[in-house]
Amino acid sequence: MGNEVRVRFAPSPTGALHIGGVRTALYNYLFAKKNKGKFILRIEDTDQTRFVEGAEQYITEALDWVGIVPDESPSTGGDFGPYRQSERKPMYKEYAQQLVDAGHAYYAFDTSEELTAMRERLTAARVAQPQYNSITRMQMKNSLTLSEEEVKEKLASGAPYVIRLKVPRKEEVRLKDMIRDWVMVHTSQMDDKVIMKSDGMPTYHLANVVDDHLMQITHVIRGEEWLPSAPLHVLLYKYLGWESSMPQFAHLPLLLKPDGNGKLSKRDGDKHGFPVFPIDGTFPNKDGDNEQFNGFREAGYLPDAFTNFIALLGWNPGTEQEIFNMEGLVEAFSVERVGKSGAKFDINKAIWFNQQYLKVKPNSELTGFLKQALDQNNLSASDEKLERIIELMKERATYPQDLFEQGKFFFSSPNEYDAKTVKKKWNETAVGVLTQYREVVGALQEELTADKAKELLVEVLEQLEVPMGKVMPAVRLSITGFGAGPDLMEIISILGKEAVVERIGNAIESIPLKNE
Ligand code: GLU
Repeated sequence: MGNEVRVRFAPSPTGALHIGGVRTALYNYLFAKKNKGKFILRIEDTDQTRFVEGAEQYITEALDWVGIVPDESPSTGGDFGPYRQSERKPMYKEYAQQLVDAGHAYYAFDTSEELTAMRERLTAARVAQPQYNSITRMQMKNSLTLSEEEVKEKLASGAPYVIRLKVPRKEEVRLKDMIRDWVMVHTSQMDDKVIMKSDGMPTYHLANVVDDHLMQITHVIRGEEWLPSAPLHVLLYKYLGWESSMPQFAHLPLLLKPDGNGKLSKRDGDKHGFPVFPIDGTFPNKDGDNEQFNGFREAGYLPDAFTNFIALLGWNPGTEQEIFNMEGLVEAFSVERVGKSGAKFDINKAIWFNQQYLKVKPNSELTGFLKQALDQNNLSASDEKLERIIELMKERATYPQDLFEQGKFFFSSPNEYDAKTVKKKWNETAVGVLTQYREVVGALQEELTADKAKELLVEVLEQLEVPMGKVMPAVRLSITGFGAGPDLMEIISILGKEAVVERIGNAIESIPLKNE
């Protein structure tokens, strides 16, 4: 094993995975692949009060959609499992005990009333940050203040207790972050965090450090919100005797609201009508009520466009290049090019990426979207026809569903005509041209290609001495119902002779001519 890069994405299954979490997963994945290392998915489910049914499955499905395939995970297994923290409970206990035995951690028996009373006392004494720390712990009920006998007795009687880390009073904790460089914190600013809860479960801090060590994680790449916990983790590594193999840290910048004012939240998405989650999901909120989380997938974003979009939220390649597929991202990615400051979320950028990816997607890969829509509307068409339609429509589409929405006229004759075009462009001259055009198209013996469609139209126009620009909107109107759209000759060719003849006939019959 030795120098192999091993990174992990360690979400807690507490609900839908925010887009920021997907970005964290992606950066870990890119870093792993770039360094020919391993990407591990670990589920951090030690906080049973926050556990949400279905959340793990949501996470797996979201990663799968994005194209992030873990090398080790709860479902694939691996040499370092189990990969769900709730299944690793005994391991944490052992290390918590080790810390207690070495004098780096202690039992604390304080009740929640006693803790509240302590905080109130400190607040009354104008202590800015009332906390359980190197000073206050000496006034509390713990194995540092109680006699050995008392402690033994309490433990034997089954009295509830937690284990707290004994943070030294005056020490400087230093860590080198790959993005932020040196981070220094004085232990006087730190509190004696609980590392083992009264239910025998470790807290995030202990579990995270123990697992990162046992799973031989080399780099911890995670959100900025964990930076304040990092010094505590450094202390844990030190006290557990693992300092020399401590992973390197990289804390990623926050994803900000579109105006840059604070962290991007579900509320921003709901307010502006854009998704901030990878895929749709329904999960209970804090009050237990089910809430709907809207996903990029269901909104019509292609997974590669979405991945490209989030990759550039906080990282830049140092060049002008914007379009990267997963391979390209792996190639170009480096943690050093991740910025320190928050990245503003701009949905227009996501839209732009989607358009770019839609344009170059092979038509054959897009037929599925159209077929689904056709099925729902009891319509059908041959693959060949669908591919021709897609080729024509995708230039103007943002989402795959636009192919159907904007291309409905291919599948059924218009029963409405754009009022503005009728008013401005529907006149006797246009009807004259259309009448004749309908005849020559109907009489055509060969296939109606786009070139042929144009040739015939030009002939009619020349004969009637009408300039093309004057009647084109009316011709289009008669065939599609709209005054504008993609290449009309191509549309005519796709529809075929029969449909064109029928549609022109319908239009002439049903659109009234105003008196000129
Ligand atoms: N379980 C933590 C979370 O939900 C993981 C933090 C970390 O990566 O250390 O984000």
